[in-house]
Amino acid sequence: MPRSSAVRLSHFLPSLLLLVAGLAAAYVKDLNVFFTSLFNVLPTLVLLLGGAYCAVYRRQRELFLMVTVYIAYFLLDTQTDFYRDNGKVREDAAVVFHLVCLLLPLLFGLFAAWQERTHLFQDMVARFAVLLVFGSVALALEQSFPQALLLWLSEIRWPALHGAWMSLIQLSYPMFAAAFLLLAWQYWRNPRPLHAAQLVGLLGLFWMLPKTFILPFTLNIMCSQVMLMIAAAVAHEAYQMAFRDELTGLPGRRALNERMQRLGRNYVLAMSDVDHFKKFNDTHGHDVGDQVLRLVASKLSKIGGGGRAYRYGGEEFALVFAGKTIDECMPHLEVIRQSIETYAIQLRNPDNRPQDDQQGRQRRSGAGASSVSVTVSIGVAERLEQRTPEEVLKSADQALYNAKGAGRNCVIAFGQNRRGAVRMEAAAG
Ligand code: GH3
Ligand code: MG
Ligand code: MG
Repeated sequence: MPRSSAVRLSHFLPSLLLLVAGLAAAYVKDLNVFFTSLFNVLPTLVLLLGGAYCAVYRRQRELFLMVTVYIAYFLLDTQTDFYRDNGKVREDAAVVFHLVCLLLPLLFGLFAAWQERTHLFQDMVARFAVLLVFGSVALALEQSFPQALLLWLSEIRWPALHGAWMSLIQLSYPMFAAAFLLLAWQYWRNPRPLHAAQLVGLLGLFWMLPKTFILPFTLNIMCSQVMLMIAAAVAHEAYQMAFRDELTGLPGRRALNERMQRLGRNYVLAMSDVDHFKKFNDTHGHDVGDQVLRLVASKLSKIGGGGRAYRYGGEEFALVFAGKTIDECMPHLEVIRQSIETYAIQLRNPDNRPQDDQQGRQRRSGAGASSVSVTVSIGVAERLEQRTPEEVLKSADQALYNAKGAGRNCVIAFGQNRRGAVRMEAAAG
């Protein structure tokens, strides 16, 4: 199922920055000795560090992507070194370059779209076999029939489509286009940082190839950047796993703990808890419970007043308002409490699915619609003299307990008398 809501610019940002940095560096003329030495070792360094990193995290797909890029770099670098030293290209330059133009997008697209499904060891063997087969067939053809292979590769198959701007063999373009579409579809189906990095990395390689012999260090720089994009995406996903809650997409408990260490002098913390959620689960099932938690989380994530929502655990969510007073936060909390209370959640239970379109329309129009709603109780506390964030959170929890005691579905501030737990409908109004 496409999840367009999960498509984020932040997935692309690290890769795009690396791409722009690579483009800028490639156009720098007259690099000094320091940079030329750096660019000579950079791809190998990135492969070793990034490869070790992927190996530790058992990310074989990413490891093989890096190895694929590195092999292309190695083959072409031998050629560019020869060209730089001798002022002319080696005799096998054309066939090697054209082979790379064909096989790089093919293998990059293949490894990028090939998800790890089987046992890790089998997966590694399968990927290695693919690399070996392509590599050995290409090498055997290049050694045995260099002229025939060169002719086949550089043949203009579609004269009508040929343009002066085409500096790669014709076959390379459909290969890049197919890989791009495949990876774009993959990102759309499953938007995550790695899939975004693969897409941007492919564009980087597409830009790099025609410049290989023209701009001196394009090859070294862009191959390093593409491998870095993949390593950065692995780091990005590892960070997300540690700090984001998978069910709701909100930052999790660890992120809250970290945020609490960086709060200034004034702040407000709130704890919210779904009312009678155990009963809700018992009535509607755990899956529906999960759907409801996602919806509550999405409501809470839209809290105004500079608040930020975290999943504290279970059906409890914490809200952090940095630099705010309790009076500033209360109206926003009340708005959120009300919006959750009045939100009719349409159930997407597989057992409850409409049989046909007509039934679906009837349900949506009200007849036989199965919608549920939940309420939340919220406890709020403000930082007062010499109190740590942990103590403030404890006070918010105490206030939450009071809110439950006051009949639930209300917002109560720490120290506020239970009877004074007025529902501030007017404020929310
Ligand atoms: P109260 O109004 O006093 O908060 O009552 P409650 O039933 O919500 O309170 P309690 O804390 O006893 O129950 C929390 C329930 O939340 C228990 C568990 O079934 C449910 N729960 C916790 N985490 C999840 C989750 O990730 N998914 C689902 N579906 N349910 C969860
Ligand atoms: Mg609870
Ligand atoms: Mg509860």
